Amino acid sequence: MADENARLPHTRMHSDSAETRSIVDLVLDYSRRRILWADTPLDHAATPSELRRLAGVTIGEDGIGATRALSVFEHVLAPACITTDHPQYLSFIPSAPSKAAIAFDLVVSASALYGGSWLEGAGAVHAENEVLAWLASEFGLPSGAGGVFVQGGTIGNLSALVAARDDARARREAAGAGRPEGGWAVVCSAEAHSSIKSAARVMDVDVVPVPADDDGVLRAPAVRTALEAHGDRVFAVVATGGSTNFGIVDDIAGIAALKREFDFWLHVDGAYGLTAMLSPLARDRFAGVESADSVIVDPHKWLFAPYDVCALIYRDPETGRRAHTQHAEYLDTLTEAGDWSPSDYSIQLTRRPRGLPLWFSLATYGAAAYREAVTASIALARRIADEIDSRPGLRLVREPQLSVVVFERDGWSREDYDRWSDRLLEEQRAFVVPSSHAGRPNTRFAIVNPLTTFEHLTAILDSME
Ligand SMILES: *Cc1c(COP(=O)(O)O)cnc(C)c1O
Repeated sequence: MADENARLPHTRMHSDSAETRSIVDLVLDYSRRRILWADTPLDHAATPSELRRLAGVTIGEDGIGATRALSVFEHVLAPACITTDHPQYLSFIPSAPSKAAIAFDLVVSASALYGGSWLEGAGAVHAENEVLAWLASEFGLPSGAGGVFVQGGTIGNLSALVAARDDARARREAAGAGRPEGGWAVVCSAEAHSSIKSAARVMDVDVVPVPADDDGVLRAPAVRTALEAHGDRVFAVVATGGSTNFGIVDDIAGIAALKREFDFWLHVDGAYGLTAMLSPLARDRFAGVESADSVIVDPHKWLFAPYDVCALIYRDPETGRRAHTQHAEYLDTLTEAGDWSPSDYSIQLTRRPRGLPLWFSLATYGAAAYREAVTASIALARRIADEIDSRPGLRLVREPQLSVVVFERDGWSREDYDRWSDRLLEEQRAFVVPSSHAGRPNTRFAIVNPLTTFEHLTAILDSME
């Protein structure tokens, strides 16, 4: 049967044939090497013309074959991509997927799983929901809390805010009121992530940026002033659970307490930082998360999952479902069934069950392994902050709370940082890019990789002499 099929030209790409087997072997062999290889270099970007010259034309009427295509990937394309899981990758927010999570990502692809509906993906959705329930309980949310794994924090924040506005609108309509005068608005810290502004633009609502205190923390008095000034226009307040630039946690408990006086949806953007609740070194900073109406956390940041995945959790999942369920004739059979379908909880319909690599890794190693790894990064951040503090010529911009350490070199201009950073990458020693705060250039270590060591970091400090 298989061989007969293979003789029909149009089935060549799909049948079980000698060619297929060699392609699968080739790809799995490469994947195995890449997963297990400890010394993958940092690598660096190349220019479009270099890549055109080196890769040549790969797409034409006749294929170039898997051997050549994979060779182009291995020798030309992959080296032009920075190795984000390298222990000396310390820029932006790195990625540090566990070996089990990476390996299982291959299984998710191999299994052609559809994660949008219960009807099609019940088993996968069940496992994802167990992870979401575990996260919700770590965050102190009630047992009915739940949601969906979406592509990333930007989509997670947008989906949560759409649900928040929908909820506010429904309640106003029920009370016989229309759109608030001046239109809807969302309140967040001036230091909130850019994706909040982006969500507001997509939703055509206003952002009310509220200044954080000097230590970077958004606190209740400033939020109160904004709520008083903007009244019932405000449908949501976003608290950041670990800012991307500094890893600073807003005063979530203080902001949550304002719910007793004002009517708003509290969303906690914990894309990077909420994971720190797993560690006794940081858990207390997040008091108040248990009062959130929705939260997000990106497992591709600090929960050791491969790109790209964000856990979006609603306190009351019905609010997400009311806002997001898509209706269409061909979908009615799903939406009328009343099952738990992940597509009903965010703005995306088709989805791979992108929470499964995290599920497999958590099931494999257990939560305690996660707590230890997260705690180690926070402890390392504190240790290197003390080291920076003790070195003449270096200055901490802010005391770190989680695992981001921001610091300045006395007398350095932006050009000095640029030159230094370029050289580190050129010499393949580290990927640490310049940043800035309040108009002053600086640089930062974002530490999430358990393989990053104190010695890696002091060697980078030494290079600033
Ligand atoms: C990274 C980040 C986001 C955006 O998440 P993506 O997965 O990159 O879309 C949003 N908020 C915070 C606080 C972040 O750190």
